[in-house]
Amino acid sequence: MMTNWKTRTKLVHEGSRRSQYGEMAEAIFLTQGFAYPDAETAEQRFIRSGEDEFIYARYGNPTTRMFEERIAGLEGTEDAFATASGMAAVNGALTSLLKAGDHVVSASALFGSCLYILEDVLTRYGVKVTFVDGGDLQAWEAAITPETKAVFFESMANPTLDIVDIKGVAEIAHRNGALVICDNVFATPIFSRAVELGADVVVYSATKHIDGQGRALGGVICGTADYIQKIVQPYMKHTGGAMSPFTSWIMLNGMATLDLRCRAMADSAQKIAEYLEAHEKIEKVLYPGLKAHPQHDLAMAQMGTGGTIVSFVVRGGKEGAFRLQNAMEIPKISNNLGDAKSISTHPATTTHQRLTDAQKAAAGIEPGLIRFSVGLEDAGDLIADLEQALAQL
Ligand SMILES: *Cc1c(COP(=O)(O)O)cnc(C)c1O
Repeated sequence: MMTNWKTRTKLVHEGSRRSQYGEMAEAIFLTQGFAYPDAETAEQRFIRSGEDEFIYARYGNPTTRMFEERIAGLEGTEDAFATASGMAAVNGALTSLLKAGDHVVSASALFGSCLYILEDVLTRYGVKVTFVDGGDLQAWEAAITPETKAVFFESMANPTLDIVDIKGVAEIAHRNGALVICDNVFATPIFSRAVELGADVVVYSATKHIDGQGRALGGVICGTADYIQKIVQPYMKHTGGAMSPFTSWIMLNGMATLDLRCRAMADSAQKIAEYLEAHEKIEKVLYPGLKAHPQHDLAMAQMGTGGTIVSFVVRGGKEGAFRLQNAMEIPKISNNLGDAKSISTHPATTTHQRLTDAQKAAAGIEPGLIRFSVGLEDAGDLIADLEQALAQL
């Protein structure tokens, strides 16, 4: 049931279910299946299962259902399906919908695994994929035709934080009858207005901000009741990408503090970006919250913030970036993002290592680029840490 509550209330209560014991905390239904009171009920449930009627955890589970209803209520979609990882969500959103001969237009700046699904998996089954510069509305206009079944993009690209104009792309896609599928991980469910701006399907890796404490892999596909129930569910139920009840419980607990965490992280990210922008050892800062950023106005209109991640280029290329990473004491060197703990990543040698030098250059992944996922530590401590580390370069 969708409520009219504001975000923070939804994050705590939306979709809650209670057993006959009236437990306060969300219960973990750690069970693969459900016993039917009689054979007739079993038969009936396989024909059509109603609300609060479950069959098998690969199809659905009460704890997972709470998470799905909470995130759908937050995102403003009719329904959602929770998945084992963010990649299971991206794969499920696309593969459940497409068949041989269909055409997809995608932004070219994508997380490596998303690129693999579009470039290697879908094309292997006869789906035609056209890649465009996500920030160039004319390129979308030229590539989308009445034959296009879906468009796909990351609303904020990893790691350069380039923003796709959701409203602009959706307008072109809808004029041609194509479904708009938006990977919204960097925008977070808190700063997202994707559905309002025209996205039909919103996909998250719940591993990132939703868990927010680096504990569990998970994902979710949000969309209309028709799309989720008739297209996504049959595919996901039978191919086995469901979220586990234990993970759903972790994600439900993460959601209670999601708004507070994302806002605190974005506030610190803005301060850190402003500090770095003025530092002589930093070549450039890629943070859309900065007034000088070419997409500042779009970022403000679309998200109201520059987000929780700051990317920047250190002078001295790879050596400079490595020395800075090694000299910082608070941020861990790792590759998750949206975690309570700040994380520094060197994309050129880790997450984007497999790209050729030419591909890296085209994607803006310079040797000195660091992706800094700002955590929940004190912003002053993080800036002091950056200052002492930069002084060592
Ligand atoms: C991390 C990430 C994914 C994949 O999520 P997993 O939970 O790691 O499978 C997909 N898209 C984007 C933009 C991501 O950052």
